[in-house]
Amino acid sequence: CGIVGYIGENDSKEILLKGLERLEYRGYDSAGIAVRNGSGVKVFKEKGRIADLRGVVDEEVMGSTGIGHTRWATHGKPTRANAHPHQNTSDRFTLVHNGVIENYHHIQRDYLAGVEMESDTDTEIIVQLIGKFVEEGQSTQDAFSKALTLLKGSYAIALLDAEEEQTIFVAKNKSPLLVGLGEDFNVIASDAMAMLQLTDQFVELMDKEIVIVRKDSVDILTLDGQSVSRMPFTAEIDM
Ligand code: GLU
Repeated sequence: CGIVGYIGENDSKEILLKGLERLEYRGYDSAGIAVRNGSGVKVFKEKGRIADLRGVVDEEVMGSTGIGHTRWATHGKPTRANAHPHQNTSDRFTLVHNGVIENYHHIQRDYLAGVEMESDTDTEIIVQLIGKFVEEGQSTQDAFSKALTLLKGSYAIALLDAEEEQTIFVAKNKSPLLVGLGEDFNVIASDAMAMLQLTDQFVELMDKEIVIVRKDSVDILTLDGQSVSRMPFTAEIDM
């Protein structure tokens, strides 16, 4: 299972698909990508291999912001509906997640009564929760931080907001996730190997930080909003 993301000036689809292929060694049962273009966020996902996912990706859809995921099912069968990315009911938010949310039943009961779920995953409650907090008037960043403080378990997460074209929101807890730095682009990946063809400069993320990735900036914050500075490291090319 793995996560990739790209934000820059080029079309993201092939970068995401190639990145996911480089993460295939981690094992997975389904895969998906989401691409932000002028008219919103478009999701493509499929059970099976990356080759199967390629078969459902619409070549006409272009977008220079995107996220991708390979899933190793823990909650819910390996089906297309349970594959990531997942969206909230309004489709404004699109999210990929690796890990396990241990208290998803409690969150569903306490915060999401009446929200119809489209999947059997533990993941979907995260994106529905963010959507709900934003509907209640919070900013996306505050809603994301608040949702993270409620989660128990492990996660690497990437989130797109259809109303904020130039941003990927990222966080992790007990699951790996790196941000890769480029010129006029930035990337995210579970393993530097997925993006080494684009950059060898990576920033490590610590548990319970939130990271706001744009094509020309990476802002790391603690969950209570304190800014963090961290130098990148050079990833070794090991082939
Ligand atoms: N627990 C999530 C699911 O079953 C994510 C699994 C993963 O890490 O790929 O959908």
